[in-house]
Amino acid sequence: MQARVAATERLTPGMIRVVLDGGDLERFEMPDATDAYINVAFRPAGASYDEVFDPRAVRETCPAEEWPARRRYTVRSWDTATHALTLDVVVHADEGVASRWALNAGPGDVLVFEGPGGGYRPSPGADWHLLVGDESALPSIAASLEALSAGERAVVRVVCDGPSYEIPLTTAADLDLQWLHRYGDERDASLLRVAVEAVEFGEGTPFGFVHGEADEIRGVRRLLLERGLTRQDLSCSPYWRRSMTDEAWRRIKREYVAAMEADAPV
Ligand SMILES: Cc1cc2nc3c(=O)[nH]c(=O)nc-3n(C[C@H](O)[C@H](O)[C@H](O)COP(=O)(O)OP(=O)(O)OC[C@H]3O[C@@H](n4cnc5c(N)ncnc54)[C@H](O)[C@@H]3O)c2cc1C
Repeated sequence: MQARVAATERLTPGMIRVVLDGGDLERFEMPDATDAYINVAFRPAGASYDEVFDPRAVRETCPAEEWPARRRYTVRSWDTATHALTLDVVVHADEGVASRWALNAGPGDVLVFEGPGGGYRPSPGADWHLLVGDESALPSIAASLEALSAGERAVVRVVCDGPSYEIPLTTAADLDLQWLHRYGDERDASLLRVAVEAVEFGEGTPFGFVHGEADEIRGVRRLLLERGLTRQDLSCSPYWRRSMTDEAWRRIKREYVAAMEADAPV
């Protein structure tokens, strides 16, 4: 599939909203999920093929150095009436194909992607909802909060670089929201875990949505198992790994996730 950039907006110093329309979006089928994501394909500079391309065909016919770089991005929102697809892309100080693309994106630019996939939506059957993550999980956390109803309870802990990196989150649910600001030192790795440790669980069992940086997610997951949640009460997804490009991360991700899923309460 392909779509065109309709507009971009700087939401925070670290996040760019990209609104896409046109292209193949008329046949985009949004799953019933608030963590739906697309698998974007970025054409490398100097590639011999057109800006609109079929990623599978390129892999079959072109040398490896011409293959597109793959990155996953959450569907922040999908407008069924206008066929506009919105992504919120973290732009980080480390060099990154996707981050760089978003920084330079402008109206008319093509974005090629496959998907969508995804499968989480806050269950109305959960006693309450615990949503934890970093900026990369904000699109799915924001979409999940919007899907909650009045009378439901949501506890949200998000780590970001500082007050200007926070975004407005809206929900009909009773919201207990805390933004955690990174110190820029080794304490950052456990900010989410420490914050979740301090959450009063009260009545009932939460459903935990924990997505973001791999080691931080894993630490929170382990803690939640220790606090009595079962694997069925959790959606944990290590989206990215600090100091690794997505290519390097995907090479070890399967093994990492298997080890993470084998973590047991101590
Ligand atoms: C299902 C799924 C959905 C996702 N949805 C979103 C989304 O909606 N928005 C979003 O921004 N990201 C999202 N991500 C994460 C995103 O795909 C990765 O962060 C990706 O690595 C970014 O690619 P890049 O080309 O910018 O950087 P890369 O080339 O992959 O990495 C370059 C360097 O930047 C670092 N880096 C990568 N991501 C971050 C980050 N978020 N913060 C700080 N440093 C980073 C890497 O560790 C590496 O050192 C999602 C991932 C998955 C699996």
